[in-house]
Amino acid sequence: MPATRHELVILARMGEITLKGLNRGAFERRLVSNISRRLKLLGSFSIACRQSRLWIEPQADQADLEDVMRRVADVFGIVSVSPVWRFKGNLDMLVEEAVAFAGTLLQPGRTLSFKVESRRGNKQFPLTSPEISSRVGGAVLRAYPEQLRVDVHQPDITLFIEVQHDYFLVYSRIIHGYRGLPVGTGGRGLLLLSGGIDSPVAGFMMASRGMELEAVYFHAFPYTSDLAKDKVLELAELLTAYTGRMTVHVVNFTDLQITLRDHCPPDMLTIASRRMMMRIAEGIAHNRDCKVLVTGESLGQVASQTLDALCTTDRVVQMPVFRPLIGLDKNDTVDLARRIGTYETSIQPYEDCCTVFVAKHPRTHPSLEDAAAAEAGLDIAGLVAAATQQIEVISL
Ligand code: ATP
Ligand code: MG
Repeated sequence: MPATRHELVILARMGEITLKGLNRGAFERRLVSNISRRLKLLGSFSIACRQSRLWIEPQADQADLEDVMRRVADVFGIVSVSPVWRFKGNLDMLVEEAVAFAGTLLQPGRTLSFKVESRRGNKQFPLTSPEISSRVGGAVLRAYPEQLRVDVHQPDITLFIEVQHDYFLVYSRIIHGYRGLPVGTGGRGLLLLSGGIDSPVAGFMMASRGMELEAVYFHAFPYTSDLAKDKVLELAELLTAYTGRMTVHVVNFTDLQITLRDHCPPDMLTIASRRMMMRIAEGIAHNRDCKVLVTGESLGQVASQTLDALCTTDRVVQMPVFRPLIGLDKNDTVDLARRIGTYETSIQPYEDCCTVFVAKHPRTHPSLEDAAAAEAGLDIAGLVAAATQQIEVISL
């Protein structure tokens, strides 16, 4: 086997960013800085952005490349990641390197099927793409006649070849990312984060559009145990893999819940409590420079998420409320929760304050008048101010 001339580099492909016009540079810089932050603990890397692609090179061999690639693929703005051999040279060298690369993919005792797919960026190169594929494919097959056979329809392995002006690439793996836009390019929002399945997914979705998030959790100890709070913090921690650093505001909601329970008709308790959450959240959002509230609500999922209930809830705030799950089926939300790794934590059985205080039959179509009547006589501003003074701020 010839001495290798290649460098092992991680190639990361950008998606929507490449459609940006004048401010594309800002998006790219943010993407690079988000990736650097995710890789900081894994060693030292050089990250360069060239021709709509990012090249990530470990500066020493110490890094676990699988971990590096997973982390890069998880950064919003990345479409896919491949470990590639990159080298310079002529056609003979390309063939030699491709044969050596194929050698790393063999599995003892198995015959694998393969095909070659070539792309030619350098139109001066003497062979066309199909000619490159057939030249490389032929050489690979001659080198490993027992271990490989050709199948162009459903191969076990695809050997990708790229011929560019100043380098060749050979690779076979494509690890898919979450696409989207880099966190930090889409403004700031405040996520109402409960211990359930939905709100972490809602946070993930907004972050995937570039939104930077803070979170607020309403805790009603001892009606909700501190285990419920730990669970929310664990969810927030899991989200930081996608969102970057996050601040969680834990509001002591106990006194307020008791006041509402003693004051409101039971069938309006859930709505009244959600309206209070919104008011308090809006105050926090103002202070923290967040322009929207984000919740995990989905139309019709439960009584407090009918159109009437959502409208009644929104009325108490000026800020837009983003509900990225509004049109999603619960099963799709669950699938996404599994994929992003929050599901197992979400289904741990700690109650949240809404389940403790919830009425048997909450009003499903509350009007604004119903809500106003339920709150009549309450010192709303005073209650909001009191709760706002009991906030624990936790930085993750
Ligand atoms: P989730 O699965 O996110 O808990 P859910 O389907 O249980 O949602 P609700 O309990 O009605 O629905 O809550 C609707 C939304 O209100 C949640 O997605 C979340 O954004 C917010 N929310 C509910 N309870 C709390 C809480 N204790 N602290 C912060 N936000 C909350
Ligand atoms: Mg819930």
